[in-house]
Amino acid sequence: MSDVSIESLIEIIKLNKLNIDTQKVKQAFEFAQKAHEGQTRKTGEPYITHPLAVAMTLADLRLDEATIVAGLLHDVPEDTKKTLIDVRKDFGSDVAMLVEGITKLGKVKYRGIERYVENLRKMFIAMAADIRTIFIKFADRIHNLQTIEALDAKKAERIAKETLTIYAPIANRLGINVLKDVLEDLAFQHAYPKEYKNVTALLDGGQKQRDRCYLSVHTAVLDALNKENIQVVSFYGRTKQPYSLYRKLQQHSNDPNKIFDLLAMRLIVPTIQDCYAVLGIINALYRPLPGRIKDYIAQPKPNGYQSLHTTVLCDRSIIEFQIRTPEMHEQAEYGIASHWHYDEEGARISDKDITWVQELARWQEEIKDEKKYLESLKIDVFQNRIFVFTPKGDVIDLPEDSTPVDFAYHIHSDIGNKCASAKINGQIAKLDEKLKSGDVIEIIIDKNRKGPNTNWLKFVKTQQARAKIRQHAPKPVWEQVISGVTEKFGKKK
Ligand code: MN
Repeated sequence: MSDVSIESLIEIIKLNKLNIDTQKVKQAFEFAQKAHEGQTRKTGEPYITHPLAVAMTLADLRLDEATIVAGLLHDVPEDTKKTLIDVRKDFGSDVAMLVEGITKLGKVKYRGIERYVENLRKMFIAMAADIRTIFIKFADRIHNLQTIEALDAKKAERIAKETLTIYAPIANRLGINVLKDVLEDLAFQHAYPKEYKNVTALLDGGQKQRDRCYLSVHTAVLDALNKENIQVVSFYGRTKQPYSLYRKLQQHSNDPNKIFDLLAMRLIVPTIQDCYAVLGIINALYRPLPGRIKDYIAQPKPNGYQSLHTTVLCDRSIIEFQIRTPEMHEQAEYGIASHWHYDEEGARISDKDITWVQELARWQEEIKDEKKYLESLKIDVFQNRIFVFTPKGDVIDLPEDSTPVDFAYHIHSDIGNKCASAKINGQIAKLDEKLKSGDVIEIIIDKNRKGPNTNWLKFVKTQQARAKIRQHAPKPVWEQVISGVTEKFGKKK
């Protein structure tokens, strides 16, 4: 780990040209240092190394002043005599709000399903209030993983597993690949030591062959691009990360021969036209595998990811190419965090970007049953997503296996309730038909329809549709009686 100090933090801020008052940062450092005076980490180091490391990660992510200052102060109210009021007095309400958000998240513990769900709820509420809170929480977790050796094995394993089940999927959903990779890399070996060994051995075994292949492909492709006068911003190879290889192996009956993208080549070129030109050149040089050319430029992934992918065969090795512009690369690596990179005023994130976060926070009020909440989360957030289109071309992001009814409710609950039939790509389709990425969906409504058909509950996939259909389902007789009685006497709501 690079040296953790206030000087290093200031240096990162300067190197990244962040529009930040370093005087404020120093002031926050001194405030935190004084407050944590005499405290040490489990590693034996002075406590201040922890908030400093957190602030350094936030500066690496190129976030704003309030977030970095809040990173320095994030453990002050919980662990020292200084309070949130002191923080607000010295650093203002924006910083205080972020510190408060982190403090409310509290010490996260993983004890069975209830704790797990409770933690997720807290995270989503904090994110909905201010998405920057989650960046501080991520940075906090990264440093705790970096110093995990100081913990006893059981606690280390709990923290590592929690990272893989909660933190990394959220980072992924927010499109922050740099964070997802670090979290998974740091956590994997502590969560599943045996599996980690197997996977890294497998990767090491093929490394020489991949290096050879990388060199020959790199030269051949560069030559071809030069001939076509295509400027290259950056071109490098990347071996699959151990944890994502482990996950892929699980999906493919542990057969490494079925994993196509052990080696990926990233090619960054100036414009979108260049991207398509490069795709053509590569597919002419090498044989593309059928069905593996993917256009995420025309159809971005729900988390905003854009690139062209093609998987080609070269000397019995299989290589995935990822072709993108510098802007797409920025988005692929930093996701939602890249909003802070351009606007010096501190960019506002569009509502659409965090609609799903707000939805999650809302459900937690509606769904009291822990298991049901977790189920709906698994389906709606952590499951694979498809993206389909409205007739006007708006992209709608839905879980896999969604149906026209899910689509209708996503647009508006009235459209769902009055949904009579649907057209998929211009063809009349059944309401329980499974949608595929790229489908254009048109919902035909019946204005006279009273409400949804409860049979739809058998096939809808989204929590949103399920909840709305249930609202219209006839209540069981006993509930009708009870509500009738209380209504009559008008005492209870
Ligand atoms: Mn902390």
